[in-house]
Amino acid sequence: MLIERIWAANELRNFQYLIACSQTGEALVIDPLNGRQCLDVARAHNFTITQILNTHEHLDHTAGNAEVVQATGASVLAHAGAARLIGGVDRGLTRGDVVKIGKTVELEVLDTPGHTRAHVCLLARGDAPALFCGDTLFNAGAGNCHNGGDPGLLYETFVNQLAQLPDATRVYPGHEYLARNLAFTIDREPNNADAAGTYATARAQEPASARITTLAEEKRINAFLRLQNPEIIARLREKFPGIGATPDARTVFVKLRELRNKW
Ligand SMILES: [Zn+2]
Ligand SMILES: [Zn+2]
Repeated sequence: MLIERIWAANELRNFQYLIACSQTGEALVIDPLNGRQCLDVARAHNFTITQILNTHEHLDHTAGNAEVVQATGASVLAHAGAARLIGGVDRGLTRGDVVKIGKTVELEVLDTPGHTRAHVCLLARGDAPALFCGDTLFNAGAGNCHNGGDPGLLYETFVNQLAQLPDATRVYPGHEYLARNLAFTIDREPNNADAAGTYATARAQEPASARITTLAEEKRINAFLRLQNPEIIARLREKFPGIGATPDARTVFVKLRELRNKW
């Protein structure tokens, strides 16, 4: 499986991805925002784009569909529940579906609501597992729930699905927010040495060459995967005394998300 991450260089800091079969060169584009840019990168690598996948319906993940379809005739895949909102979707996806690219790539569809109601992540299993997670899991953070989402659903997606994946899973999110999210982790957990150590390098890094984290690393630096941490809970109680001394994980997640909204 070949992966090309494409930095959109926009204010929202989007990442787009090309995933290609190393034998046939057939490729799938994830979340094209700038269609021209995706087409150019594909050409430079001799990839033939045959499919487009939108993780969810937000325009910064779909705006490039039309240009890529026009240039390549690619078919468009998206969550069955988001197909009407996106328009032009050829294949509606549900949990457990498999997306094949060429002869060598198989991606499993995860149904991962929370950022929006109809959001998919794609999982490559095997020796080098990889997760393409749109606006669900970010490096050191979690997607917001402002535009059609639900923090309770996002919590369930995190705990029941994403946190269960192998530690070696590489994380490929829809936006580059690593340094900003690390600052939030450090604000919530000042004694987190892993987050502090990663922050210095993350700040100095060009977004186009930002590090690719693994799930094991996320569990050390992402407050939304550290819901049992005593320091996080203690500092959360300063803001929300009503949660008590032993809040459940869902409460911790939802309150962290609430704080992050205004942070
Ligand atoms: Zn979004
Ligand atoms: Zn987005």
